[in-house]
Amino acid sequence: MKKDILEKGAILQRDKETYAIAPHIPGGLITTATLRKICDVADRFKVPALKLTSAQRIALIGIKEEELDAVWTDLAQTPGAAIGLCVRSVKICPGNTFCKRGVQDSIALGLKLDEIYHAMELPNKLKMGVSGCMLSCAEVSVKDIGIMGIARGWKILVGGNAGIRPRLADVLVEEVATTEEVLTIVAKIIRYYKGTPKKERLGRLVEEMGIERFREAVLGQG
Ligand code: SF4
Repeated sequence: MKKDILEKGAILQRDKETYAIAPHIPGGLITTATLRKICDVADRFKVPALKLTSAQRIALIGIKEEELDAVWTDLAQTPGAAIGLCVRSVKICPGNTFCKRGVQDSIALGLKLDEIYHAMELPNKLKMGVSGCMLSCAEVSVKDIGIMGIARGWKILVGGNAGIRPRLADVLVEEVATTEEVLTIVAKIIRYYKGTPKKERLGRLVEEMGIERFREAVLGQG
């Protein structure tokens, strides 16, 4: 029986025959050239459907297994980590680059996080979100690691998810002033999570430990 093909970033579809793939499009920010290329490749291989995903990617759906390599070659893109136990996506809102309500630069921070962590292997899947203000358009309260722009910096949340067992994130740090501090704290969260023996979602770990003990364990690292 056919299965997902991790190394090709290919997800078996409902017909149990064809696959969906999604190129990595950090933050959903895409050039017209890349967009045209995706359309051209979709036309060339008669891809039946294109779908904008919740991870801000464009999925090409309905590709035959024997065409996967050629499609990736023609796209000249790397796969987005849509499957596997790793950092899947960093959802990024327009922030103060474009949005009139933005108070922080979620694009710069989100792209940095994407550059460092996208596809990094972890005990379980992990999603991040970065919002440029408290309206939280990147849904930071249901992300494993959520970063929310606030007037004087950033709030850091952990342990959210919107999956089969939904959970609202806990506040790990109420306020830090700079993106460098955010990056340091995210690095500590990831380092701690990587070192845990259980293969559970971050939210389950936070729940089991309680946010106070989790905070102490994570922030207490050197
Ligand atoms: S979270 Fe705030 S800054 Fe980001 S898109 Fe929404 S309103 Fe704009």
